[in-house]
Amino acid sequence: MKSMGDQVMDEEIEYHDDEESFFQDIDMLQKHGINVADIKKLKSVGICTVKGIQMTTKKALCNIKGLSEAKVDKIKEAANKLIEPGFLTAFEYSVKRKMVFHISTGSQELDKLLGGGVESMAITETFGEFRTGKTQMSHTLCEILLNSMCSRPDRLRDIADRFGVDHDTMLDNVLYARAYTSEHQMELLDYVAAKFHEEAGVFKLLIIDSIMALFRVDFSGRGELAERQQKLAQMLSRLQKISEEYNVAVFITNQMTADPGATMTFQADPKKPIGGHILAHASTTRISLRKGRGELRIAKIYDSPEMPENEATFSITAGGINDAKE
Ligand code: ATP
Ligand code: MG
Repeated sequence: MKSMGDQVMDEEIEYHDDEESFFQDIDMLQKHGINVADIKKLKSVGICTVKGIQMTTKKALCNIKGLSEAKVDKIKEAANKLIEPGFLTAFEYSVKRKMVFHISTGSQELDKLLGGGVESMAITETFGEFRTGKTQMSHTLCEILLNSMCSRPDRLRDIADRFGVDHDTMLDNVLYARAYTSEHQMELLDYVAAKFHEEAGVFKLLIIDSIMALFRVDFSGRGELAERQQKLAQMLSRLQKISEEYNVAVFITNQMTADPGATMTFQADPKKPIGGHILAHASTTRISLRKGRGELRIAKIYDSPEMPENEATFSITAGGINDAKE
């Protein structure tokens, strides 16, 4: 999801002059003795920033075709010269966090529940049964983001106008790809990282609808579970890195499964999101959706470091996610 410029998305966002320095191009390594061919190899797997090197293990770098351990050591060393080792003072950290922005979901109630909306530099997961509104929410996030970028932020509040986004503008600014296997899904993330890098600061939102569907198909049964979870962990770690490296909001949807043990323990809600502990730990915020009367849906914070486990009711309308009418 692209934005149209550097306009603010809500009043709380302030882009800082130092945003440029947020992206340290991997080409900078040339000044520290790394040759263009090796830099190209890193780019081919979607590592395009100096921070990207810091976020990748030596082992993973050695797995890149044509990179020996000696070369990897040199690359790591060069990257460390360009970037501080990672410790920030609490003040520096708070400055970094100021770059975080929120994208409205379309429902003020739901935004309140989420502490302002879907957050950048984080993974937000929404799960629920079919027709609970996961895809509708993804679409609404796109529209709202586009609207806020195309227009003055004060128009944001004007719900009637939120679909005032011109069709061509929308089509030109949303990139869409369909993954056919979980491996393909991972490869697409390389493409995403390269694209985010190429047009630095332009993309604001990455949606995966749904994160687990292909994993479910590609890995079946208990025997393949360990492998599935390992691959899933790699994908989520990639997503986490992308969200921080390029300051984008990552929004993923997830499916549910009946927990066969739950009926035995008399749990109120026997359905659980799939993906196990790996997904549970990777998502910064988890929203569970369930159906209410008619088009009403109830969102509940399932797992968040900051937000209490509250609920919000919203509705699905022709215009996407909206507040429930009184
Ligand atoms: P799945 O797990 O099957 O992908 P989902 O959670 O993604 O489901 P959505 O497709 O987001 O579900 O939501 C479907 C709901 O949205 C349905 O209840 C449908 O009635 C409602 N809906 C879809 N389009 C419209 C519309 N134009 N106007 C009103 N409601 C709509
Ligand atoms: Mg859907």
